[in-house]
Amino acid sequence: MEECIFCKIVKNEIKSFKFYEDENCIAILDIMPRSKGMSLVIPKKHIENIDEEEELSKKIFESSLKIIKTIKKVLNPFEVVVSNYPSQIKHFHLRIYPFYEKEIPLIESQPKKVEERELEETLNLLKTCVETTKSVEEKKEEVKEIERSKEEIYWIKRSISLG
Ligand SMILES: [Zn+2]
Repeated sequence: MEECIFCKIVKNEIKSFKFYEDENCIAILDIMPRSKGMSLVIPKKHIENIDEEEELSKKIFESSLKIIKTIKKVLNPFEVVVSNYPSQIKHFHLRIYPFYEKEIPLIESQPKKVEERELEETLNLLKTCVETTKSVEEKKEEVKEIERSKEEIYWIKRSISLG
């Protein structure tokens, strides 16, 4: 496999405009920014998708919040937009775009025409998925509960056999 450019940046093998680093990720300025201060948040570990390692992604978003706050404080943009728009580089990363007062994002100025029915369809899909996610979480909690009670039973049995 050809070595990934972001992995090289993480390892300091390639010069970058890094301005943030913690145990999970780094943040660098994009060298071809779409706006002043456009940054990339790159996990140190090579993952390709946002949902590949949920815990890691959560930490990346947490770090991104710090970075966004920093960008807001430093560059005073009108707004900050975050995306994981597909890139030629397969190493997952978040793009942080600060926008300034006279630079409203293009997509924002060209709203798409959508039928109400289509909106409802999307809405229902989203709702279903939200509920599914919730129940998956509940399921995980149930499993944990079962594990816990198994462990308890084990210790009770053990103390009985020892006693
Ligand atoms: Zn990589």
